[in-house]
Amino acid sequence: MIYENVLELLGGTPVLRVRNVLPDARSRIYVKMEGFNPAGSVKDRAAVHMVEEAERRGELRPGATIIESTSGNFGKALALIGAVKGYRVILVVDPKTTSSVLSYASSLGAEIEVVTEPNSAGSYQEARFDRVRELLAKIPGSYRPDQCNNPDNPRSHALYTAQEIIDDFPQLDALVLAVGTGGHISGTGSALRQHFPRLHVRAVDSFGSAALGFPFAPYRVRGIGNSWVPETLNIEFIDSLHLIEDGEALSMCRVMAAEEGLLLGESGGAVVFAALAYATAHPTQSVLVIAPDRGENYLGESYDDQWLRAEGVEAEDLWRTREEALRHARAPKHPPTSITHAPACASAFDPV
Ligand code: PMP
Repeated sequence: MIYENVLELLGGTPVLRVRNVLPDARSRIYVKMEGFNPAGSVKDRAAVHMVEEAERRGELRPGATIIESTSGNFGKALALIGAVKGYRVILVVDPKTTSSVLSYASSLGAEIEVVTEPNSAGSYQEARFDRVRELLAKIPGSYRPDQCNNPDNPRSHALYTAQEIIDDFPQLDALVLAVGTGGHISGTGSALRQHFPRLHVRAVDSFGSAALGFPFAPYRVRGIGNSWVPETLNIEFIDSLHLIEDGEALSMCRVMAAEEGLLLGESGGAVVFAALAYATAHPTQSVLVIAPDRGENYLGESYDDQWLRAEGVEAEDLWRTREEALRHARAPKHPPTSITHAPACASAFDPV
């Protein structure tokens, strides 16, 4: 297959069936590996669609500057797009962003601004936004994709990610997806609910994230969660919620590496753990998770025992075996809750 540029490698990501870490011989858990996109994550789809729609509408002109606040993966995607299409790219990140993400983006020519102080609530995200606003005011003709407010973010997943899932699955019972901006859960959730009317959609968020209206408290897992309820999150198609502790996500990464040879990103660990908990309660159902990126983004951080220790996490406290994962999946730290009504706020979630 011959491609004209690297952005054409977008999409068509593989789906892997989990073989060993299953609660029951009848269980079917599938992992759609978004890390196989050209800049390595689920955000590539949203970034390409947002940029191309902005070009089409004339909001983004040749040679302009793209400025965005990002925890990492969206920035990698923008850095790649900037290099291919000739835009200057400025990424506003914070100290949680991993060194591999930063080296990737700067190797492609993106400029990096690190916000070093969180705001008074402990949120780096809001501090990043303040810096983005300053840069936009300073640089004429600059464009901000605004991933938390731009409807082209969820739309990219409704158009493309969902269609790939429909092509791969004649039947599907449950979708277990991470929430950050809400882009991929809202887009795929809405499109797949039309195609599979009885599909159960379970949102996976970090305990401490305010994306679904709960009070914000700092947490460690990167990419997942938010400091507020993003515009791009539509909870209409979400049936239940599983809040994950950092230790559950990081442990699941270790288990999947050891038992399946699969090096997941941190949020991938979170969704696979949530899928295991779902499958424990529904052993005959088919469950699909989207692994937003790959473990390669975290080799120097959450896969590194010394780094973890410096962060206050003892690697020995993480579980590594199928048996431990199953035991924890039967009794997760925060039992999943069902959603009873709109709008997007914590009161919509009731214990099941
Ligand atoms: N996991 C990772 C690793 C991510 O980078 C992101 C995007 N921030 C998400 C999950 C959440 O994806 P979305 O923004 O589509 O909700």
